[in-house]
Amino acid sequence: MATRRRVLAGLGLGLAAPGLFWRGAGSGGRAVSGPGAAEPGALYRATIPLVGTDGPRPSIELSLRNPYQGGAVYVRVANATAGSARIFGRVSPLSPGAGGLEGFVGIGVGDPPGPTTVEVMATDAVGGSFRFVEPVTVRQTQWTYDDIWLPPPDPDAPPSDEPPLEPEQPRLDALYARVTPRRWELPFIIPIELGGDVWVSGYFGEQRSFNGGPRTGHHGGTDIAAPTGTPVRATNHGTVVMSELTLVRGNLVVVDHGGGVLSCYGHLSERTAEVGAAVRRGDVVGLVGSTGLSSGPHLHWELSVAGVLVDGLRWLDGTQGF
Ligand SMILES: [Zn+2]
Repeated sequence: MATRRRVLAGLGLGLAAPGLFWRGAGSGGRAVSGPGAAEPGALYRATIPLVGTDGPRPSIELSLRNPYQGGAVYVRVANATAGSARIFGRVSPLSPGAGGLEGFVGIGVGDPPGPTTVEVMATDAVGGSFRFVEPVTVRQTQWTYDDIWLPPPDPDAPPSDEPPLEPEQPRLDALYARVTPRRWELPFIIPIELGGDVWVSGYFGEQRSFNGGPRTGHHGGTDIAAPTGTPVRATNHGTVVMSELTLVRGNLVVVDHGGGVLSCYGHLSERTAEVGAAVRRGDVVGLVGSTGLSSGPHLHWELSVAGVLVDGLRWLDGTQGF
């Protein structure tokens, strides 16, 4: 279809001042640029709000305006073909889905509580650029804590002849920073159904002290205690990008769900998915175990958004609006 916007712009109809862009129904933000936005010294081009366009302009929707530390916000932009969302300097891609462009921004455990913004850049079907600056207020999370007493190492234990494993964190960090084409679809699922002898034995963000020391750090995942051998299921569609025995998380499997979202399953007794395997939501990627630094059979489940670890349980209960 002919682009009336372009035709009108070509006629030089100066009917709108830059900055008067419609921001879309229900939006709390503002679109501050478009095909007609003037730059100093640039040729003046006109755009007419609400009339003379090719259709609805991009409009934005956030699932939550008051996310908490360790939480995430689902971002959707209607009537746009490409875009990205940014919070605290971290950029998450937005990808086409059922309701328009979709994606998540994650709030880290160390991100400051208080007012901030989610900035969204989007492009519409005729190449217009739109920028939304959406106010959000980060709530402080009250973390759980656990004071752990570890027995001293056994001086009579025979020395291991296994070569020591490299700590896996640097490689995990590099994987979590990746952005690949989106494969996830809502909803995300819990890797093991709770109930009976399956329960949450450690919450995301928990602070821990060892042998009476200070409570420090934040647990990067959710611990789900379950009998050895319980199947562990992928929380969403994706591709296995790591599957090996590691120092801390023992046998782990990492699934890349695309769009900057990845999940990790640790302390497995067995890994049943190899690197490169495509998995669907609910596919078994391993079995519960107690490998690595673990005091009993449980799953350590991590979820990462644009390189920031978030609370996976909150992706399941609707409290974040998705
Ligand atoms: Zn854990």
